[in-house]
Amino acid sequence: MKIDGRCHCGHIAYEAEIDPEQVQLCHCTDCQTLSGSAFRAVAMSREGSFKLLSGTLTHYVKTAESGRQRLQSFCPECGTPIYSTGMGEGAKVHALRLGAIRQRNALVPKLQIWRRSAQPWLVDLGAIRAAEKDAPS
Ligand SMILES: [Zn+2]
Ligand SMILES: [Zn+2]
Repeated sequence: MKIDGRCHCGHIAYEAEIDPEQVQLCHCTDCQTLSGSAFRAVAMSREGSFKLLSGTLTHYVKTAESGRQRLQSFCPECGTPIYSTGMGEGAKVHALRLGAIRQRNALVPKLQIWRRSAQPWLVDLGAIRAAEKDAPS
């Protein structure tokens, strides 16, 4: 499936090919911190299909407990996370951040990983008081 994405401010635009079966959530504590949210949702690109159409990405190298390094790429202007990828030879597949993909409404996660560090309230998300738009004042 061909997808395209952009950051919030519009500096970064890209396109890629993804497999809709390869959409997943990660509950690891690094993803919680780096996404600024309770978990991260990603779509895996097909090898070598990521193409940056505009802008210049900023990178941060995350070193995991295992010593494995992942390159985290984001917009230098607005901070929108765009993807992570391996270093060197592992740099062919991009874990594209779901929130920046235009077609995200059609992409349903098929797997969740690092469930052991998931925020406990996620299992009962539907029980949290909800408003269709902004919070009532
Ligand atoms: Zn931006
Ligand atoms: Zn993670």
